[in-house]
Amino acid sequence: MNDDLRIDRVETVVVDVPLRRPHRFARAAMDAQPVLYVFVRTSGGVTGTGEGVVPAGPWWGGESVETMQVIVERYVAPVLLGRRVDEVGPLMRDVTDVVAANLFAKAAVEVALHDAWARALGVPVHALLGGAVRTSVPVTWALGTEPAPVVVEEALAKLDAGLHGTFKLKMGALDPAVDVARVEAVADKLAGVAGVRVDLNARWDRLTALTHLPRLAEAGVEMVEQPVPGNEIEALAEINARLPIPVMADESLRTPTDALRLARLGAADVFAVKTTKCGGLRASLEIAAVGAAAGVPTHGATSIESPVGTAASLHFACAAPGATWGSELFGPLLMAEEMAVEPLRYADGHLHLPAGPGLGVELDPDKVRAFRRD
Ligand SMILES: [Mg+2]
Repeated sequence: MNDDLRIDRVETVVVDVPLRRPHRFARAAMDAQPVLYVFVRTSGGVTGTGEGVVPAGPWWGGESVETMQVIVERYVAPVLLGRRVDEVGPLMRDVTDVVAANLFAKAAVEVALHDAWARALGVPVHALLGGAVRTSVPVTWALGTEPAPVVVEEALAKLDAGLHGTFKLKMGALDPAVDVARVEAVADKLAGVAGVRVDLNARWDRLTALTHLPRLAEAGVEMVEQPVPGNEIEALAEINARLPIPVMADESLRTPTDALRLARLGAADVFAVKTTKCGGLRASLEIAAVGAAAGVPTHGATSIESPVGTAASLHFACAAPGATWGSELFGPLLMAEEMAVEPLRYADGHLHLPAGPGLGVELDPDKVRAFRRD
């Protein structure tokens, strides 16, 4: 057995990456994205990198870069040290014996293990996931909760530049009737030139959703993401049955068990899979496989990752046969600073798999130093 694969160091760094514009969700806004980098080094001198990131803070799922750093340093690192990076399955099982939930923190570690393992072998991460069934994915752009003229202007600029052909609007920050009128105005302006989707981020209750969502379908909105709270799967199923357009599950979907329940109830037509919220690459593949078996395609969703986490999600989305519903892997495009030595390649509305071993992304050490939190 090759001893070069032993893990001899686990390190973490928190950085705050400035954004090009403030990004607003229903319940939170940010002008910099906090990111936790996890570095796993082997005795052979290879370092793998993973990224722990949530959209803006703990409002989405309870974790933050601060909680992830404590979990990784204090509870996960002792499990990893001295073990082999190519034992990802047993390592993550043993991590789960010590840390019950905390899927975002685990994802950062699991991706770092894959990156180190792939680099040690000189292969891309997708090779460890069974190989790439596609080499790029379409990228939707996310628009915030600002007034219609502001988001229309931003969308038209992206369209003109040929960067994105579909747009996802964040909803839920306003009174529902006002919010629906705002989206109707946007859909009207973009009708025939771009697809418009909305994400409620679990903000409405069942009745509000049943009252207002049909108007959005009539206005030409092509997909509705997570209108009701994550644990209200029965309500999601009822809404999905009544709406003529697809419903996508996000907050309701974090584990393969969630995927099976959603599929059984017919609660979603599309699965939003984030490697971050799902605990890493392997669980994401399992969820996409459950979806594919049930006829539910997977969308490569985002927690607004920097290039490291974006590349991880890209390797997953390219390796998962069921990930046929595009992506929103726009994280690096929203960031005002390029964190990678070589930027990920966005072209023709797609994000393309990078060449090179591991994730195919090298963090710029000067940028990490510049934005490191003390
Ligand atoms: Mg979402």
